[in-house]
Amino acid sequence: MEITQIIASHIGEVTGEDFTVTGQHSIAGGCINSAFKLQGKGKDYFVKTNSASRLPMFEAEYAGLKEIADSASIRVPLPLCFGTAGRQAYLVMEYIVAGSHRVSASDKSMQQFGQQLAAMHQHTSDGFGWHMHNTIGSTEQRNSRSRDWLEFWRTQRLGFQLQLAAGNGYAGSLQTEGERLMSALSSLFDDYRPEASLLHGDLWSGNVIVDSDAQPVIYDPAVYYGDREADIAMTELFGGFSRRFYSAYQEAWPLSDGYPIRRDVYNLYHVLNHLNLFGGGYLGQASNLMGNILSQIR
Ligand code: ADP
Repeated sequence: MEITQIIASHIGEVTGEDFTVTGQHSIAGGCINSAFKLQGKGKDYFVKTNSASRLPMFEAEYAGLKEIADSASIRVPLPLCFGTAGRQAYLVMEYIVAGSHRVSASDKSMQQFGQQLAAMHQHTSDGFGWHMHNTIGSTEQRNSRSRDWLEFWRTQRLGFQLQLAAGNGYAGSLQTEGERLMSALSSLFDDYRPEASLLHGDLWSGNVIVDSDAQPVIYDPAVYYGDREADIAMTELFGGFSRRFYSAYQEAWPLSDGYPIRRDVYNLYHVLNHLNLFGGGYLGQASNLMGNILSQIR
C-alpha cells in the first residue's frame, strides 16, 4: 500500500471516521523533514515524513505537542498519530491555516503570544527534564530527570553538545574554554532558583505562526521542563521578536535581573548545536559567546 493510503486509514482509525484523500500538496520550509498537506473532504492534515529510523523523533514530537496542548495555554497543532509505512516514518497533526499577517506584523497577536507563553511557563513540574528524550534540530536532546537545574544544564545541555563537538573534530580551545565556563556557572545561580517550567525548547521565529483568527501558534517543539529564561533566550538568538511580545511577557511574569548573562549561557547550547549540525561557520560564534560569558563572570 502507498504511504498516503496507510496514513489515510490510520487517520480513519484514530478519528473513527473514514478519511478519503482528495489532494496532497508538498510544503517547503522545514529544516529536517519532508512535509505535505493531506486533504480530505472537509478536513486537512499536516504530515511530516522521514526515514523509518526517525520514528522515535516523531513519537517525541507527538508527545511534546500533546504536553503543550494539555497545558491549555497556547495553541499548537493537535497531534493525531504517527507510525511507519515501509521505509518511511510519518507524523500526522492538525493543519493550521496561516493568517494573512506575518508574526511580527500584528501587535495584538504578539501581545497575546507573550501572555500565552507566560501561561505555558506557569505549568511546572517537580523536576527538570522530561519523561522522554527528544531532538533539537536532528540532534538528540537528553531529558533525564534532575532536581538540580545547573547540573542538568551542565551535563545534558552544554556538556552533551561539547562532547559531540569533540567527536566532530572541534577539540582544543573550544573544550578547554567550555570546561572553564562550566565550572564558573554556579555564580550565576547564587540568588536564582528557576522553576521547572514547561518549555517549547526551540522557540525561534520559524516555529511560530499566526493563524487565520490572528491567534499565535507554536509548533516543532523540543519540549522539556526547565528554566523559562531558556525559551525567552532563544527568541532573541536570531534577531528577536517584537517589543510587544516582550512587554506582554514581562507584565505577565517578569524576568529576574540576571537574565541577560544567563541568556548567553542558554543560547550557547543552540550555537553549539548549530556547530554540530552545520559545521565550522559557528565555531567563531561559539568561542565569542563563551569568551563573552567568561569575561562577565570573572
Ligand atoms: P521541520 O520539522 O522539518 O523543521 P517544521 O515543523 O518547521 O518542519 O514545518 C515546516 C513548515 O511547514 C513550517 O515552516 C510551517 O510553515 C509549516 N507547518 C508546520 N506545521 C504546520 C501545521 N501544523 N499546519 C500547517 N503548516 C505547518
